[in-house]
Amino acid sequence: MKQPTRYHDLSDPQARPRYTGIASFFRAAHTERLDEVDIGVIGVPYDGGVTNRPGARHGPRAVREQSALLRRISAATGVAPFATARVRDLGDCWLERPFALEGALDEIAAFYRGVVGAGVVPLSVGGDHSISLPILRALGASRPVGMVHIDAHCDTGDDYMGSRFHHGAPFRRAVDEGLLDPTRVIQIGIRGTVNDPDMWGFSTRSGMRVLGMDEFADNGWHFAAEEARRVAGSGPTYLTFDIDSLDPSQAPGTGTPEAGGITALEALRLLRALRGLDFVGADLVEVSPPFDVGGLTAFNGASILFELLCLLVESWQIRHGATRSVKS
Ligand code: MN
Ligand code: MN
Repeated sequence: MKQPTRYHDLSDPQARPRYTGIASFFRAAHTERLDEVDIGVIGVPYDGGVTNRPGARHGPRAVREQSALLRRISAATGVAPFATARVRDLGDCWLERPFALEGALDEIAAFYRGVVGAGVVPLSVGGDHSISLPILRALGASRPVGMVHIDAHCDTGDDYMGSRFHHGAPFRRAVDEGLLDPTRVIQIGIRGTVNDPDMWGFSTRSGMRVLGMDEFADNGWHFAAEEARRVAGSGPTYLTFDIDSLDPSQAPGTGTPEAGGITALEALRLLRALRGLDFVGADLVEVSPPFDVGGLTAFNGASILFELLCLLVESWQIRHGATRSVKS
């Protein structure tokens, strides 16, 4: 009688049937031990900075669920993140006092100082866009970093109804706090309506390159990638992806949608064209499952997250000269 085949690969959680098991990010192993990790995927279930429709606090769980659909290797580039670096799900950034905005951001910053201090590269899933400021407080503490920012909004506003730390202002605060070098920042996909003609004026005044949606549509993702490479240069760079940069037909599950956005395909190709920049961290924010349709936004978000992971792994590999072979 023929013996059944044994699939030794099933010790690798990424290789198991993808609908089984507990849904961690990309089915990566979960750990809180930072010494076992090169790239840490972290949920930040916090949306205390939203100015309109809430729900992004549920983003990490929905993206974990949808990310289980993804496989191990990029068919487009051949990058195999889980075989190259130790990629782990670090769980969620816990907050003791989540209902006080500025204190919550301080708590997030303290968590990320621990992550960055242990040499772990953070890949974060929000949460609303206010969480990028405390992450930059950890990553930009020793020197300002550059940034590739893909979003329908510049998020360089100021005081709004008594708050300076809402999700429409993190990158103005980051420049104020010396965490970002604005001359190495590009903002891609900007569009929609404003309440004040100068709502995003800080971006251009501080020296950021604002590549609006009309310019993107006229010149394409390839041009946007070339501009991003030119602006960010060779220094350490953060990558932040607001899911509302995508067209609402492909990302309805978000708090402040804007018509006429980037397609998922354009976003994936734009990100792949950024290979070789020195990315020191990245995030995906503003996925709001209560407004989603059939998990579409979370799925496109998880697919974007995989590209961010590939970029971080390649940058990590270049910095460390590493050619590690990792089992899972
Ligand atoms: Mn944003
Ligand atoms: Mn936005």
